[in-house]
Amino acid sequence: LKQKVEHQNSLNSLGQMAASIAHEIRNPMTTLKGFIDLLKQISPDDGQRYIQVIDSELQRMESILTEFLYLSKPVNRHYEEVMLAEVIEEVTELMQPHALLHNVMLVFENYDIYMTKIMGNRNRIKQMLINLIKNAIEVMQNGGTITISMKILQTGKLEIAIRDEGIGIAKDDLKNLFIPFFTTKTAGTGLGLALVKKVVEEHYGKINVESTLGEGTTFIIQLPMNHEEPIYCENKEDLIGCSII
Ligand code: ADP
Ligand code: MG
Repeated sequence: LKQKVEHQNSLNSLGQMAASIAHEIRNPMTTLKGFIDLLKQISPDDGQRYIQVIDSELQRMESILTEFLYLSKPVNRHYEEVMLAEVIEEVTELMQPHALLHNVMLVFENYDIYMTKIMGNRNRIKQMLINLIKNAIEVMQNGGTITISMKILQTGKLEIAIRDEGIGIAKDDLKNLFIPFFTTKTAGTGLGLALVKKVVEEHYGKINVESTLGEGTTFIIQLPMNHEEPIYCENKEDLIGCSII
């Protein structure tokens, strides 16, 4: 046990160190970005192409750092009343320009349970939804519709489903989706769904994925509305698949 605790401690401090390095790297990156913007204005035509590459690679580094920093934050058990429909509306509005650019329509079906509240962490839920919608937009090369729906289950849990009409997910990839750094994209970070998983865990929720290649994917999240009840877990290492009894 002692060895296990020590191992855990060193993992924690490694995580902390990684987080502070990530944080430190951001400052020089901001400086670099500033100079790239200046170069853009003065450089000749053939230089612009190189600058574009540098710029997009810098952007990629930036997303890795941002997502990593989010991911390495300690589990957040601070809950407040969150009106989920309101957060979903906020996120769809926020993502609208990005969606339009990809010919994607965002549709939110909520109607009768608009006012429903859950105990949760507003910012983290928002980030979770952003990551899921971003992914959905990215796999719909020909455009289409993303439908976000919300309902209350018989079990009293709230279910959110995010359905896309994208390329779908290969069976072999399904089990890897939530592992940090797993990505099938050339410029992906593979951290988006790892964060989604963490937020679901923080809310004692469950996440499921249904997908048909060539047709689309639905991410289904179930969240208890409050979490005073004890949690029942088949596999303590992996809170996904846990439920509240
Ligand atoms: P990234 O988006 O940087 O690749 P994520 O953790 O967000 O990292 O997603 C991991 C992988 O899961 C993606 O590379 C993609 O293969 C797959 N994926 C996630 N969402 C979807 C989706 N809606 N449709 C198809 N594949 C998806
Ligand atoms: Mg992603």
